[in-house]
Amino acid sequence: MKEKIHPAYKPTVIRCACGYEVPTGSTKDEIRVEICSQCHPFYTGKQKLVDSAGRIEKFYKKYEKYQKQDKKQGA
Ligand SMILES: [Zn+2]
Repeated sequence: MKEKIHPAYKPTVIRCACGYEVPTGSTKDEIRVEICSQCHPFYTGKQKLVDSAGRIEKFYKKYEKYQKQDKKQGA
């Protein structure tokens, strides 16, 4: 390796949204991921919703609203 043209390679962690951390090495201080082998349903064998952006909640709120509207129309 040539000196001074490469960013410093240092020990760091890959941090998952579930809290799991994987020690690794990188030029970055921290690497963030939203899913890892510890929380992915394929590996855990459990059905779990991974919804880091809150999109599913938004959908349910919207759906609730429509249901209420339907009731009004039916009355
Ligand atoms: Zn994870």
